[in-house]
Amino acid sequence: MSSTSATASHAPVVGVLALQGDVREHLAALAASGVQGRPVRRPEELAEVAGLVIPGGESTTMSKLAVAFGLLEPLRERVRAGLPVYGTCAGMIMVANKILDGRDDQETIGGIDMIVRRNAFGRQNESFEAEVGIKGIEGGPVEGVFIRAPWVESVGGEAEVLATYGGHTVAVRQGNVLATSFHPELTGDHRVHALFVDMIRAAS
Ligand code: GLN
Repeated sequence: MSSTSATASHAPVVGVLALQGDVREHLAALAASGVQGRPVRRPEELAEVAGLVIPGGESTTMSKLAVAFGLLEPLRERVRAGLPVYGTCAGMIMVANKILDGRDDQETIGGIDMIVRRNAFGRQNESFEAEVGIKGIEGGPVEGVFIRAPWVESVGGEAEVLATYGGHTVAVRQGNVLATSFHPELTGDHRVHALFVDMIRAAS
């Protein structure tokens, strides 16, 4: 096996899918969690990372750009091969095997056997913050920032619900793929990123 920069250095290199969305905030949260974050826009860049964050933003745009940049199939392949991935908000939509209220031509990468409803918590001006307790994260609830956020309508047998809010599932993990409806990268509390970094270290 050829050695990549991701496996050669001590601190894993973690990509942030940089087609669209709040890339910078995730890079900062990763740096604060002790790993090297790196924007990923091309298949060659994807090949070099030991984990990948898919940021919040607009999943319809991300879907379109992933196709245009030739990244959709490489992303699907790496996720199938076990790449640790963390999707926030639009990123949660991208890792859902199935979505509701998407655009007709909207593609997802998939990775979690769940059905995610886009914009389920309402419009932009109905965005809100709420405390969310997450299974596996100690030290009390995290501040969840929900911005035109999706929720999870249902999960399959292999997916584990990590958090609910208002009766709706808002955090899920299946194997190496983690997803939250909300945006921990916007709060300065890096415990969810730390959980993801633990997943990457365990996988590599
Ligand atoms: N509603 C957006 C979408 O469908 C997600 C919003 C967000 O990421 N803050 O992609």
